[in-house]
Amino acid sequence: MRVLLLCPPVSLDGPLVRPRHAPHHTAIIAAALRDAGHVVVVQDPHRDTNELPALCAAARAARPDVLLLMGSDYNRKIAPTAMVRVAAALHDALPDIPQALYGRVNARVARSVLESLPAAQVLLFGEPEFTCREWVDAVASGVAPLDAAQAMAGAVWRRDGEIHLNDAVVPDLDLSPVPAWDLVPPQNYSFAPHQQAGDIVYPVLASRGCPYPCFYCEVRARPNYIARSVEAVVGELRVLRSRYAARSFFIADPTFGIDRDWAMAFCAQVQRQGWTDMRWSCMSRTDRVDEELLQAMARAGCWSVLFGIESLNAKALSTSKKAMDPATVGPALAAARRAGIETIVSLIVGMPDDSPAEFERTLDGIIALDPDFAQFFVMQLDSAEPPAGGRFLSDWQGAKHDFWGRVYAADAFTSEAQLQALRRRAFRRFYLRPKYVGGRVRALLKSGEPVVQLTRAARGGLLALRMAAGRDVA
Ligand code: SF4
Repeated sequence: MRVLLLCPPVSLDGPLVRPRHAPHHTAIIAAALRDAGHVVVVQDPHRDTNELPALCAAARAARPDVLLLMGSDYNRKIAPTAMVRVAAALHDALPDIPQALYGRVNARVARSVLESLPAAQVLLFGEPEFTCREWVDAVASGVAPLDAAQAMAGAVWRRDGEIHLNDAVVPDLDLSPVPAWDLVPPQNYSFAPHQQAGDIVYPVLASRGCPYPCFYCEVRARPNYIARSVEAVVGELRVLRSRYAARSFFIADPTFGIDRDWAMAFCAQVQRQGWTDMRWSCMSRTDRVDEELLQAMARAGCWSVLFGIESLNAKALSTSKKAMDPATVGPALAAARRAGIETIVSLIVGMPDDSPAEFERTLDGIIALDPDFAQFFVMQLDSAEPPAGGRFLSDWQGAKHDFWGRVYAADAFTSEAQLQALRRRAFRRFYLRPKYVGGRVRALLKSGEPVVQLTRAARGGLLALRMAAGRDVA
């Protein structure tokens, strides 16, 4: 069958929002379908259009036998109002083509998504490369789309106006294929300069989900934590190296190091491969790393870790269910520095039980700890009701790259304008320090790749200035 995987624009209103991250699960689904013998076309019109007529014309031009519409993907979420309109427009544009939505979401979210989309009949959830393949295989063999959904796990469907759901099963993730990056070229997306050393970065998912309950994190909408074997992940690195000449990787797990034994075994096995030209980065928490692990990661080629810290205010971390001791931040950053790993800290303005004064104290503390880079976000949530201790300050927004939904802030913050002003000021305070700029110049001069690093510094400097001036990443 000819299968079209279509990633809708993040929003249909306003200017085109260009997602920073490649639709990772879409690339994996594309590979799974191709392995099953289907012809796969991927459309992610994020650079060209967010207009429905153009979107539908391109979908028709692909001449699909089946259409799979992305409902959400890794680091990508579509505005609910846009999703309603896209699903309806595609239903009208391709009325005779079996259609289903897909996303790595849990059963609760899958049901509510289908309820919110009158034009959609089927949503495939759980680990979507498995559910999409099963549904497409069944439809290809002549089973009616709704009957195919009814006969499988990980599907929610609408029949005669009623919603029905079969819960997902946990598959063997080692059977998940290497993403089809030829159909979703990573070079069409760009990591921020502080996360990219220069070459094309290939994302790799060693695990999915996260066991922590941080209330602001979109991981809450996903199935539970599930990991691949070390052998499978190293095997994927080997394939990416040979198939795409990939040398730079981003271990895209929400939190690297959830299973410390796994992380140590992974580092040892990567080191044994002797891939001295390889480098990788990841995201983690400061309470999931230690000296020994960071040293092992560095020996295995890790050059950068993004730490989700959010705040140094213990009460704010506790109320938001981050469940992290801020006392772990300093030792983790220092240990990473000793290992030769760059550190990025991620902070949030407006945490519950935080205040403008507390946020400034967090900033003071972070500056004193001297990480290599810092990023600051205003919190956005897609929950129906605001969590206790704060309120929504805006309608749904999708123009940010790591948060979607309505701007949320603790009661001590007065307005979205104040949050944005604090964020701008944080960028200025962190990046426009003579000591910081001097340190980056010294690091540049010591670098073995002066041209690459100069380009990165120029991109990063420009970005920091834009952030400090209040403009978002484009
Ligand atoms: S630890 Fe990080 S990835 Fe996990 S739920 Fe919290 S914010 Fe999300």
